[in-house]
Amino acid sequence: MFKQCRPTVCLFRQVLRTHLHQIRYISDEELYSHNIVLDTIPRNQTPYKHRKKADSNFTDLMVVKLTSGDGGNGSVSFFRDAGHAKGPPDGGDGGDGGNIYVQAVEGETSLHKLRKRIIAESGRAGQKDQMNGRNGMDVIIKVPVGTNITLAPGCELERDNAPFGEGWVHMSGFREYNMERDFFLDLKKRKSLDDKAQDRTERIQDSFPPDGIDLTRPGPPILLLKGGRGGLGNRHFHTADVRNPRFATVGRAGLTGVFRVELKLLADLGLVGLPNAGKSTLLRAISNARPRVGHWAFTTMTPTVGTISLDVASSDRTFTVADIPGIIAGAGMNRGLGTDFLRHIERAGGLVFVIGLDGEDPVADLKTLMNELGSQRMFGKRVLVVATKADLPQTENRYRALAEFTISRGWRTLPVSAINRNADVEVLIRMMAEIADAIPYQAL
Ligand code: GDP
Ligand code: MG
Repeated sequence: MFKQCRPTVCLFRQVLRTHLHQIRYISDEELYSHNIVLDTIPRNQTPYKHRKKADSNFTDLMVVKLTSGDGGNGSVSFFRDAGHAKGPPDGGDGGDGGNIYVQAVEGETSLHKLRKRIIAESGRAGQKDQMNGRNGMDVIIKVPVGTNITLAPGCELERDNAPFGEGWVHMSGFREYNMERDFFLDLKKRKSLDDKAQDRTERIQDSFPPDGIDLTRPGPPILLLKGGRGGLGNRHFHTADVRNPRFATVGRAGLTGVFRVELKLLADLGLVGLPNAGKSTLLRAISNARPRVGHWAFTTMTPTVGTISLDVASSDRTFTVADIPGIIAGAGMNRGLGTDFLRHIERAGGLVFVIGLDGEDPVADLKTLMNELGSQRMFGKRVLVVATKADLPQTENRYRALAEFTISRGWRTLPVSAINRNADVEVLIRMMAEIADAIPYQAL
């Protein structure tokens, strides 16, 4: 049986080796992530080695499990000095567990540094001499601006607390002793009521917005998961009847949640084109024309956002463009890099389709792109169709057909040659600025 399976396994490994670019975190159809370690991993290299080298890993979707810290336990201790062999109870309270915050910061562009499992520090246990334990350290998770966080489907926030009325710390060897005392059984009943009340409070505090949170601008840390409260030291149980409480309470448990963290780059414009349409060349031409701006990594493997300024001399008026990897027919069915990258243009106000005039049928190419995008993603967006490679011979007729189709839809179009970097780059920038709403849109 095993022998029969082996060839399949080997084949699978080879496939993995060359196409290890999508890693599934959980087996939900929708939950994909792009851990890009493509393009061709040399056969003699293991994917692992390759991954270590690839610093450009880009991840735009992660499922992370986060747990805030548990509260520290209360302490059981009695005051002692030369004059008192056994003094009054002086056990301090446990510290609170560390909270987990999330903060959108500028300068981050990918989620790949995010850890999949984070547990905040627990509060320290209380000490003798009425000393309270230190609170657990908080965790601040830094994510790029444009990150959206929702609870993973079917998951809820949970605290793994002891059952109501339970959760005691007994002085060593005194568990049985305590359990046999009437006052302790009474206390257990009271604690049960307290725990219920505490549980209700936590449930109200621990809510997470059903629509998730959208971190569209840099800001202060936002509390995601509150740590557990520390337990009570034995000094709280000192009464006229109970002179020597040999017990304290445990801290409340930390809060656990499974979150779907998704990065949607924020840009005014989204660039969409088939592979080799000439997008990278076009962007290079633009950023050469505007040397003070534009930070394009000319890679088609990861989406990038670049800034383009309207005036060569100043960068006062700018707009941003998201360059996403080329999509191919069937991308919607996850061929090629799939359409997952298209989430980055969901928030863009305008779309720029880049069509290479070297293709046999530019109109068909444009229709392919429109199909893969789907009408929902295009809804309400301004559109510019840029026909590149206009320098190639015999492209006039192709452009004419494309322009006819484009104009019939009320969109703009422009033929350019990015290779020659001629004057049309200036016109292109103005048109893009209009689509991006950086300058007034002049109706045709
Ligand atoms: P991308 O996959 O959309 O980023 O396409 P690239 O920018 O990498 O360009 C693909 C090929 O088309 C390259 O060989 C470019 O040299 C070529 N190319 C891009 N723009 C032009 C152009 O304006 N004129 C000509 N003749 N070739 C171009
Ligand atoms: Mg490219």
